[in-house]
Amino acid sequence: MKKNNNMSVYLDYNATSPMRDAVKKTLVSIIDSPANASSIHSHGRLAKKLLDEARLDISELVNCNPDEIIFTSGGTESNTTILKSHTKALVSSIEHDAVLKSANNPNYIKVGKNGQVDLNDLEEKIKIYNPDIVSVMWANNETGVIQPINEVVAIAKKYDTHTHCDAVQAIGKIPINFHNSGLDSMSISSHKIGGPSGVGALIIDKNSKFIPLIIGGGQEKGRRSGTENFIGILGFSCAAKEVKKELKNYQENYLKRKAFEEKLLNNNPKSKIICFNEDRLPNTTAIYNPVMPSETQVIKLDLMGFSVSAGSACSSGKINKSHVLKSMGLDWASNNTIRISYGWQNNNNDLDRFVDAYKKFV
Ligand code: PLP
Repeated sequence: MKKNNNMSVYLDYNATSPMRDAVKKTLVSIIDSPANASSIHSHGRLAKKLLDEARLDISELVNCNPDEIIFTSGGTESNTTILKSHTKALVSSIEHDAVLKSANNPNYIKVGKNGQVDLNDLEEKIKIYNPDIVSVMWANNETGVIQPINEVVAIAKKYDTHTHCDAVQAIGKIPINFHNSGLDSMSISSHKIGGPSGVGALIIDKNSKFIPLIIGGGQEKGRRSGTENFIGILGFSCAAKEVKKELKNYQENYLKRKAFEEKLLNNNPKSKIICFNEDRLPNTTAIYNPVMPSETQVIKLDLMGFSVSAGSACSSGKINKSHVLKSMGLDWASNNTIRISYGWQNNNNDLDRFVDAYKKFV
């Protein structure tokens, strides 16, 4: 594929993120070696050793045991695996489709205007429906709102319900601690932290039972068959090590976001930042514009050299009304909101240029 040389500023990190230089170097260094970790010869043994090291590096990013990590093809497969192996799901209404569409016999937890799950509704619905899995994401991909995961776990545990969390958007942006959270399982994905796409992990407590989605060769201790995506996993672990270093200073990103959002609002008093005062990811700004549909905004900004996205673009590229904003009772915003999500390759200049462009087209 041709490189995008047109100087467009990439502000869509929540969709996917650019591959990190350290990851590219790692991939180049291993690309030539045949590596099937199930082989018993020296190449196979080396592959196994490197996979074990990768498992350790990733476990250190999210504080779990290495053997709680099951490598998958990404967040979608991880969510599908755990949801499909339960029979009655209670999920938040703002989950990613990877959860919503895999949930068996689903019921939905209400979400307030503040973008967070309603904890009373969660408890009421556990009592009424007696689900065998509760699934609430760590942070929402469209609004960036961080969910009260500790409280969700505390409630679900009272009823002994498996508690799963889609942490795909949160990982790398804020510290995540699987063991301290008390969760039973969690999904993460490599391409959101600067690793390759097509690889991720389901992290699952050793006492939790589930039915593997892919069976056959018995890899991943029988929990996910198929020869491991060696190159992808090593790229993922390299990205995890890089992101772990960056997380030491993650609070600084809140200051950058604050300055960016203040400038946006000062220039455009009629625009609104969704969940402005709530606890959100430090890289995510969802902004509503009263006059222009999100699709038009995305296209105009693209022509001006900025890659951003509307709330929910499906794989066909069509932009749908945001189910997240609708579920939050913000129907008025669901057709006119765009998401700007930034990351390690952006500097303040990129954000300032965006502020100018947004002012012009609005
Ligand atoms: N969950 C959330 C919250 C996401 O934002 C995404 C991707 O956009 C996924 C799951 C799917 O992850 P993957 O692309 O690794 O399958």
